[in-house]
Amino acid sequence: MSASFLQFARLCQSLASTSRKLEKRDLMVDSLRQLSARDAGRTALYLSGRPFAEADSRTLQVGGSLLSKALAELTGADPETLSAAYRRHGDLGAAAEELLANSRKPPCAQALTMEELEQSFAQIASASGTASRMRLLLDLLGRATPLEAKYLIKLVTGDMRIGVKQSLVEEAIARAYNADLSQVRRALMLTGDLAEVTVRAISGTVDQARMRLFHPLGFMLASPVATVEEALERFTEEVRAEHGGHQTRPTEAIREAQVEDKYDGIRAQLHCGDPGQPGRVALFSRNREDISESFPELVEAFAQITEPVILDGEIVAWNPAGNRALPFTSLQQRLGRKRVAQELRERVPVVWIAFDLLSLGGELLLERPLRERRQALETLVKRLAPATSHVRPQGQAALFEAPPAPCPRLLLAPAMQLESAEQLERAYTQARERGNEGIMIKDRNSAYQPGRRGLAWLKLKRELATLDVVVTAAEYGHGRRAGVLSDYTFAVRDGDRLKNIGKAYSGLTDAEIEQLSHFFKAHTLEDHGHFRTVEPLVVLEVAFNNIMRSDRHDSGFALRFPRILRIRNDKPVQEIDTLQRVEELYHAQPDKALEQSQ
Ligand code: AMP
Repeated sequence: MSASFLQFARLCQSLASTSRKLEKRDLMVDSLRQLSARDAGRTALYLSGRPFAEADSRTLQVGGSLLSKALAELTGADPETLSAAYRRHGDLGAAAEELLANSRKPPCAQALTMEELEQSFAQIASASGTASRMRLLLDLLGRATPLEAKYLIKLVTGDMRIGVKQSLVEEAIARAYNADLSQVRRALMLTGDLAEVTVRAISGTVDQARMRLFHPLGFMLASPVATVEEALERFTEEVRAEHGGHQTRPTEAIREAQVEDKYDGIRAQLHCGDPGQPGRVALFSRNREDISESFPELVEAFAQITEPVILDGEIVAWNPAGNRALPFTSLQQRLGRKRVAQELRERVPVVWIAFDLLSLGGELLLERPLRERRQALETLVKRLAPATSHVRPQGQAALFEAPPAPCPRLLLAPAMQLESAEQLERAYTQARERGNEGIMIKDRNSAYQPGRRGLAWLKLKRELATLDVVVTAAEYGHGRRAGVLSDYTFAVRDGDRLKNIGKAYSGLTDAEIEQLSHFFKAHTLEDHGHFRTVEPLVVLEVAFNNIMRSDRHDSGFALRFPRILRIRNDKPVQEIDTLQRVEELYHAQPDKALEQSQ
């Protein structure tokens, strides 16, 4: 018999009531130890705030408005009552708990089990159409007690707010079953399945988890720097830490750096060459979604590869005649399509630019230093696409050489080992001249750390820093935009919370605004007529002139003259910029002392 979901909800309640990390961990340890292997797996997964494992591409497709409708139906609450409850708690789960407790819904005779919940999630994910998802949701919520409904809704919306990060769940698993934490983390990175890793920890087999082709690995992330000077400073810090804190001068540190152009496309992990599945190719986005369908020409090209490989790189729109990438706005026309017409394939050709090699011939290379991975990547690309491997030997006058025409689909990102700080400045200018976003500075001694944003990879883009933010509210515009939600309030991350930092209405095309307007209507949390709070799902990249201290928003900061550069469909909300980054940028401004809050 599977454990009850009520037990899980009570655990969440206890976790939310303490802010002490160790106490949270021990609460999880105690609970996990009392459960069967399957239920412990489910519990670990759900505590991380996901209804499905990372490696599992299923989604529930249940948004705030469907949940609100289901709640209204179950409790009989009218829109004003719903909205007032939401405003009181700022959280749909907590609002549901209150509404259900106040309604006279009879208690369900049979307790909901963890196994039943897993089955319901599977049914909802495979249901076709809103009506059938609604029916399943009503069945599920109809069986829940108010406390269960609270956490059920939090789980469905992916917003648990119990102050538990996945890393803490990993610690709890290791401690509960005396498993080695680094082995637990490694197994998770390889399998992308917290439930499976839990079951392995129980049976003492975490060390036997294997990488699987066609299961995306986590992506290594880069830390932003705003200037060449900051890049140099941060990179020196990284090298010092590597040398056990020994004093290292920037001029010495720089020799450990590899510099590449930062391409303005979308990140994609390429899996192909499985001898057991000839011709199978998968490209995974940063959200770990399989996006191969949108790029049939890449799939056709990589289907020829016959050795099992996992590569990291960037899909860019490409101008074969000019031998350079096209702006991101061109690539945007290719995103999110299930069918790609021949005309579009010809008008916006795409290539995939490789910059890292994660696995070759079944062997995982993540722990090898970048210098070795790069060497193996160059050899591999030469073998696979001889015409594309144009990397200059170190120290030559020209920093980069563009990959040659005609467009061969697989290109190797040219890389350069730095010799001096001046070269860094020059590399940045030249990357911009080539139409790329900026440069990446990578530590040649670093391992590939999936999912980590450290100093081993730095990104320097645009003259002015930009912020990746999430939209939290939308307003109807004026004039031509009176009928569409075109003004967006957006937030950065502060731990588990989102803090608003600005509002922007310029930068997007009419078609994009139309699309977003539609989306926000379907994902409204509270409708105040002219103004709606919306589910925090849409990530935008915004530029601004500077940052000022202000009490207009709850972050304590406001952006001056913000403008939207683009919608970042490729970026998960968990990876938007943080309040800490805003503070850093604020302090880095030369003229902040003159700033006036307006
Ligand atoms: P951002 O999206 O601004 O956080 O910057 C990091 C992103 O830059 C990565 O996720 C990649 O999509 C992209 N990128 C472009 N060129 C490179 C490169 N040479 N190495 C690593 N990442 C790159």
